[in-house]
Amino acid sequence: MTQDPPLLSDDLLERIHGRASDNDRANRFFDDDLADLRAAGYLSAMVPAEYGGAGLTLQQMTREQMRLAGAAPATALAVNMHQVWVGVARTVHAAGDPSMDFVFTDAVAGELFGFGISEAGNDLVLFGSNTDARPDGAGGYSFHGTKIFTSLAPAWTRLGTFGTDSSGAEGPVSVFAFIDRDGGGFEIRDDWDTMGMRATQSCTTVLDGAHAAADRVVRRIPPGPSKDPLVFGIFANFEILLAAVYTGIARRALDLAIATVRKRTSMKAGGAPYANDPDIRWRLADAAIELDAIGPQIDALAADVDDGADRGDLWMPQLSAVKSRATETAVSVVTKAIRASGGSSYFNSNELSRLYRDVLAGIFHPSDDESVHGAWANALLGPVIPWPPDGD
Ligand SMILES: Cc1cc2nc3c(=O)[nH]c(=O)nc-3n(C[C@H](O)[C@H](O)[C@H](O)COP(=O)(O)OP(=O)(O)OC[C@H]3O[C@@H](n4cnc5c(N)ncnc54)[C@H](O)[C@@H]3O)c2cc1C
Repeated sequence: MTQDPPLLSDDLLERIHGRASDNDRANRFFDDDLADLRAAGYLSAMVPAEYGGAGLTLQQMTREQMRLAGAAPATALAVNMHQVWVGVARTVHAAGDPSMDFVFTDAVAGELFGFGISEAGNDLVLFGSNTDARPDGAGGYSFHGTKIFTSLAPAWTRLGTFGTDSSGAEGPVSVFAFIDRDGGGFEIRDDWDTMGMRATQSCTTVLDGAHAAADRVVRRIPPGPSKDPLVFGIFANFEILLAAVYTGIARRALDLAIATVRKRTSMKAGGAPYANDPDIRWRLADAAIELDAIGPQIDALAADVDDGADRGDLWMPQLSAVKSRATETAVSVVTKAIRASGGSSYFNSNELSRLYRDVLAGIFHPSDDESVHGAWANALLGPVIPWPPDGD
């Protein structure tokens, strides 16, 4: 199923594509892309129509994000963080809970949501935070801690974040909430200088009292694995939309390689194009075969999230698997595209070299390779048995 016509026109994508290389080279945020995307209604793409959005399903959104990633990977990855929050609000709303409906109205008003979740040395990811969430006595919270890799740093106007409230007698509680940029109480470090995904400007954010009012506190839940719709919504929307971004990068790399081998000629073969070379043909076919499996997997999972289907104990492992397979496949496809295209792709002026740097970021996002294998092993084999058993 595609949005017909797509929300992002070919002309708009061409403009965005035209800026990607300069933004990367200058290590610059994509201000102009963001203005265009906002004007095109992209920030409210997944907001239900009754709230004034375009009402795209998650499945339709993955298609748009793949196209955007093919044009400008960093723009797509950073905007993904906003789309994840809108998707989470849909999941929570579908569960009969209106506590995140403000995300719809804010997104329609042009607000941009950043994703302030990751912390240094925190491999619990959503299941625990080392940020301190201090109650204000009126149902709100102030946050104290350091979030890393906060994409959209120069531009977010709302930041979804979480921390731990250790003040209560009931033990630690994970608090998920949204702060306003206008409210202050945070510092953004100018520390984003990476090998790829440079235009995301995913700088470190130091929360130093940033305050969320009571109506922006969307969850107080025990730390650890949870079936809460908010936690499921973050997991599902994040893993699927991330898979879409990296798949879009891989598709673009394959297209570039196909164009290159049609032009690149072989002296050995009397000047014939490399597109005739059996080894090159095999390599690109191999890349396409790998990639062919990903689209249907993303489609099926997104459709199940849209329909509120329950895949039981395999839901979370399958969601982490699509992210893992899509990002690992994207690395493999881009590498094959580069090998087939030859040494010219090693020049910084060649788009493939940028895609090669950008695609590598995929391996660092959660769920990383270790955690997805751990989740599957537990689902298949159960926990590791203490060995030798007690008493032996
Ligand atoms: C391009 C890109 C954009 C991203 N955008 C977002 C976003 O918008 N929002 C978001 O929440 N996440 C985002 N992430 C974060 C991401 O998904 C991971 O959390 C991140 O890649 C860290 O992975 P890691 O734990 O393997 O890194 P690590 O290398 O283990 O850690 C990252 C940093 O923390 C330090 N560190 C590691 N362990 C410790 C420790 N025990 N004590 C102190 N410091 C330590 C490291 O030195 C390093 O500087 C983004 C990631 C990338 C690559």
